[in-house]
Amino acid sequence: MSTQFYNSLTKKKETFKPIEAGKVKLYTCGPTVYDMAHIGNFRAFMFEDLLKRYLLLKGFEINHIMNITDVDDKTIKRSFDENIPITELTKKYTDRFFEDLKVLKILPANIYPKATDHIPAMVRMIENLVKNNNAYITDNGSVYFAIDSYHDYGQLINLDFSQQKRTNRISSDEYTKDKPQDFVLWKSWKEEDGDVFWESPWGKGRPGWHIECSAMSTEYLGNQFDIHCGGVDNLFPHHENEIAQTICATGEPFVNIWMHCEYLTVERGKMSKSQGNIFRISDLVEKDFSGETLRYILLNTHYRSKLNFTMDKKHEAVQVVQRITDLYDRLLSINKRVKNDGSLPEEYSQFEGALDNDLDTPGALAVFFEWVRTTNIKLDSGSLREKEAVTGLNFLDKVNSIFDLIQEKIEIPKEILDLVNVRQKARQKNDWVLSDKLRDKIYDLGWTVEDTLTGQKCKPLKS
Ligand code: AMP
Ligand code: ZN
Repeated sequence: MSTQFYNSLTKKKETFKPIEAGKVKLYTCGPTVYDMAHIGNFRAFMFEDLLKRYLLLKGFEINHIMNITDVDDKTIKRSFDENIPITELTKKYTDRFFEDLKVLKILPANIYPKATDHIPAMVRMIENLVKNNNAYITDNGSVYFAIDSYHDYGQLINLDFSQQKRTNRISSDEYTKDKPQDFVLWKSWKEEDGDVFWESPWGKGRPGWHIECSAMSTEYLGNQFDIHCGGVDNLFPHHENEIAQTICATGEPFVNIWMHCEYLTVERGKMSKSQGNIFRISDLVEKDFSGETLRYILLNTHYRSKLNFTMDKKHEAVQVVQRITDLYDRLLSINKRVKNDGSLPEEYSQFEGALDNDLDTPGALAVFFEWVRTTNIKLDSGSLREKEAVTGLNFLDKVNSIFDLIQEKIEIPKEILDLVNVRQKARQKNDWVLSDKLRDKIYDLGWTVEDTLTGQKCKPLKS
């Protein structure tokens, strides 16, 4: 069975064939750490996790690089607004990002290069572009990429220049496709940049956002690599500009397959501060979403379809996670897998076939849920044979290696449960002093207790 992925560059599904047999070089655009990442960002990171897990299931070895954008217009502005050093700001949000990845059980990348650690590589790339006449230096010491110098500019989003209002050039990192412009590679220092600058052949300044990903991807993966991902909002200008500047700087082909996930909206609208509908992972955990329920919600829609996130999706997700976890426990209670012949049910090939078809998760889950339904019927009627339990557990392992929906059981020791119960009674009597003392005692014993709308929730302290 061949694996097909939709390539945003050629606009068709293509059979996946890595440059080097058995190995995949993957670059995914990471977070801009000026704030906490939101559920929309995590749609992109979850889609990339799905892709990666599927390639791993197929037996590929993966070298995955995800950058951390720790210097750009947004990070500088936020550090200025909050009056804290940029390094302090970006460290805080990078740490939070890694915590969220753990909650969502997203597999870690091999390397998370930070933009600020790779300025010399960016300067080298810009020097090449200037030397090759693809870039020009302005009077104030900024460097711009001349889009007319690259014939194929606009290929990712099919830009038709005759329909466009062409203006001179743009110094901000983000702009829309109705105004394609020469974009900035190196920004000369301005007063509002404060102490954020590096020396360069063009004077002090800082890189533009787009050159960061070109420099870091080629630094770690070579001039040409297999797959580059992001959300659709990265198509233009970010990825279009990455293609232009990388190909012009290296003189070689760049990325074989570009893959993008569609937008996540909240209650059918764009997430925005004014609407108060920006959901972070920690907000959702507070509202009792687990990593598994969020995984289900994010993976249950095909990555190239829009996903409308609503709070009421939790109900179905909780049930799904419970049903799968229960089935796993039931099968394990029948057979402890002493003898495992590696067998899989006949549904497995359909499951794999769906994922081979451009990661069709709804299709794969439909096959899996039908198998769950019939397996539960057999279990209820006592007609499931021991051998089938092993086959079923093997199937669940495969499904879980992609979706990771089975909830790990947290065994709460009796000593902690007793303290939680006493605390519950103290809270009912509004005895907040005792309640706080008990929380401290529980903490000293290695557990945290959170007060949620549905009662106290206990978790072991992270090691
Ligand atoms: P940023 O931190 O803005 O650089 O974005 C990190 C990743 O999240 C990129 O791959 C974006 O394309 C993606 N992204 C941002 N917002 C959304 C959204 N609402 N839906 C899907 N992906 C998004
Ligand atoms: Zn990027």
